[in-house]
Amino acid sequence: MAAINKIGVFTSGGDAPGMNACIRAVVRSGIYLGKEVVGIRQGYQGMINKNFWDMDARSVSNIIHLGGTILKTARCMEFLTPEGREKAYKNLRSHGIDSLIAIGGDGTATGAEIFSEKYDIPVICIPGTIDNDLYGTDFTLGFDTANNTVIEAIDKIRDTAASHDRLFFIEVMGRDSGCIALRSGIAGGAEAILLPERDTAIDELIKKLETGAKNKKSSSIVIVAEGDKNGGAYDVAKRVKEKFDFYDAKVTILGHLQRGGSPSSFDRVLACRFGYAAVKALINGDTRKIVGIRGNSIALTDLHEALNLHEFKLEEDLMELSTILSI
Ligand code: ATP
Repeated sequence: MAAINKIGVFTSGGDAPGMNACIRAVVRSGIYLGKEVVGIRQGYQGMINKNFWDMDARSVSNIIHLGGTILKTARCMEFLTPEGREKAYKNLRSHGIDSLIAIGGDGTATGAEIFSEKYDIPVICIPGTIDNDLYGTDFTLGFDTANNTVIEAIDKIRDTAASHDRLFFIEVMGRDSGCIALRSGIAGGAEAILLPERDTAIDELIKKLETGAKNKKSSSIVIVAEGDKNGGAYDVAKRVKEKFDFYDAKVTILGHLQRGGSPSSFDRVLACRFGYAAVKALINGDTRKIVGIRGNSIALTDLHEALNLHEFKLEEDLMELSTILSI
């Protein structure tokens, strides 16, 4: 196995809070351990366009608290083709980049696996996505901050809901994963949580809201993950309103504000640990692995395994807790 001398780091797919803290950790850990680090702007697109940035320790000053990513991110169609990947490989090699650290979600990790199977460039992935939908880690980077953003919004909406005796449907991100909906629903004291992983009949939801009203609840909050099978929050609200008009009902879609913002303490520390662990993994000769955290310890999982095993991360105990605590 060839020695690692120049590490390329990039962010790809959707941005997530903590990506900057993670870039900082990769750059400084790499330099501390005697390696050069090159930032690749705009993910896989930057490899194809030779958008390289030779970084030093000062390149990542004052970014630990920033949302988004200083390296920018992109969704790159050209990298889906063998020709695009070959171009990326040639450009990386001509810049002397001999190893990669990819920060992103499952698409990014899939691209990394395909690329490193064909070309002799070791790759370590870091799970950076607010969705918490990757195998091999209890938490992905950005998930905690996104939840904090959502509960801040729920708290504010609750003030209005309680003042006006209203029912609010709040839609949160999660096309395939209900992790944000479940956590933020529990932390925000929601009356009901609708998730892509579970079928919730509208009649069942109405029954719950009726019970709440009978129990003298003057307002209610329902969290709807965008991928819930009943449709988004507008569809759910419409169907509920047809049969249940006890409260005035309103809908709020939180949308992209869940992606940005300054990372929480949890995400910053996670970013630092992930970044350092990824650099160490490359130096130790690992490739096609994804860094994660399991039971508060850093874990490395084979990328192929991580991409092919789907962990049902929704904690059943939290689901039960939500039912118990929302009576
Ligand atoms: P998020 O979870 O926030 O959506 P992601 O990393 O899953 O992030 P994607 O848009 O799915 O985001 O993937 C990012 C990029 O990874 C794609 O734009 C593409 O360049 C590359 N990629 C994804 N899938 C593949 C694939 N099968 N082959 C090669 N490259 C891929």
